Amino acid sequence: MADEKEPRAVIPKGEPYIKTDVISPTFMMQYDACTRCGECDKWCPVLDAKDGDRKFSPMDKISRFRSFMGQSYGLKAKLFGPKRLDEDDIQDFADAFFHCSTCGVCASVCPAGINTVDMYEATRQQLVMRDNGPYGKTIMFPKLIGEYRNPYLKDQKQRLDWIPDDVEIAEEADVAYFAGCTAGFNQQVLGVCTARVLNHLNVPFIYLGEEETCCSSAIIRTGQPHKGDVPYINAKHNVEALEARGVKKVMFACAGCYRVATIDWPKQLGRKPNFEVVHVADLLADLIQQGKIEWKKSFDNKIITYHDPCHLGRHCGVYETPRVVLDNLPGLKFVEMDRIKELQRCCGAGGGVKAGISDLALDIASERIRDAQAINADILSSCCPFCRRNIGDGRDNVYDQIGATDYDLRDNPENKMQVEDMIVLVAELMGLSTKIKSQEEEDKAAGVEAESPKHLIDL
Ligand code: SF4
Ligand code: SF4
Ligand code: SF4
Repeated sequence: MADEKEPRAVIPKGEPYIKTDVISPTFMMQYDACTRCGECDKWCPVLDAKDGDRKFSPMDKISRFRSFMGQSYGLKAKLFGPKRLDEDDIQDFADAFFHCSTCGVCASVCPAGINTVDMYEATRQQLVMRDNGPYGKTIMFPKLIGEYRNPYLKDQKQRLDWIPDDVEIAEEADVAYFAGCTAGFNQQVLGVCTARVLNHLNVPFIYLGEEETCCSSAIIRTGQPHKGDVPYINAKHNVEALEARGVKKVMFACAGCYRVATIDWPKQLGRKPNFEVVHVADLLADLIQQGKIEWKKSFDNKIITYHDPCHLGRHCGVYETPRVVLDNLPGLKFVEMDRIKELQRCCGAGGGVKAGISDLALDIASERIRDAQAINADILSSCCPFCRRNIGDGRDNVYDQIGATDYDLRDNPENKMQVEDMIVLVAELMGLSTKIKSQEEEDKAAGVEAESPKHLIDL
């Protein structure tokens, strides 16, 4: 009879070993879409640093995870129940999977259009949820940032410590400067230079100070956003605090914070903030193009090159404005390195690699230094405190190796390539002090005037 139902096969039910709470059907389809063409392997900085060890191949990692998924959710799994997976194999995979700076060059070159960065971050989170990650001491990030509101274990009151007496912070303004934790606590020269440059350009700005909390990039990038919901709490807090001050634009000089504000804040809050997110390079490029910047100092015919921070370039599409700025700095010839823009070679610090696997970060940064050496760069600049720190470490590593044989370099360490953030170079060439407050106070106490760096000449 037509209305009689066919008996259905009984599908045994079992628990899949790896769940998919945060791995969306789109990501599952993207895992399936990989054609194993191998293009990503040719560009991956981790695979390169690991001398081609297949365990670190992005293509093989994708295949491995796809196989786990197939055994858990494929047709056979549906008919006969999910296959038992080997826990050691999952852990081995997870360890390899966290050896990735989430730089995204694999996404840029993937002919199948796989959005690897988002897919990897979701997969990382799923692995963390079953205690297979994160890697190394990055596990501390949610606790530290949740408790201290910054990753450096500082009291929130100390957020104001970097501000020197000469910097003016407005009570009300259309612009806010979001300094972030690294410029606020750890590389204060970046906060000081950004603030002095904004003052010099007559751009009044407010600063949240004690109210500013960590952007939580380190937690998100390492797959731990669910732990205490710290990124969401901080996003809500920062966005609402900035909106309450009525600003129209929020200015960033840190690529990591800028990426979070541009992509992660709207994702976490389910809405766009009521202000525009701007990188300081955009402002500077605009003013340079209008002829509104006057330089007071110059370099003495040096070669400068630019390293695109992944979080600013590939993740957010800001490639041109930092180049406009650097190309216009006096006394410098701007020369591009190999592997730039969409195809940039990552410095190796991101995705928790610097904090969790520092030797890998150093190896990758050393490779970036070799790219700069190949074009005889005197200065390698970037717009990211993490690039500055890691590439600086890479520079020291490379020069330590050649310093043993290069006597000129050993005896003249000032001949080393300079690794410096764009905003510090801009401040120097505007004739502004790049000393941080404590140094100025020391100088004042000793009756010494702040001196310009020796490599600059007056215009
Ligand atoms: S995101 Fe970067 S480091 Fe990670 S697999 Fe892709 S190319 Fe390699
Ligand atoms: S480039 Fe894309 S399709 Fe090719 S192997 Fe890598 S992830 Fe797969
Ligand atoms: S430190 Fe800079 S280049 Fe390195 S991973 Fe972060 S954004 Fe990318």
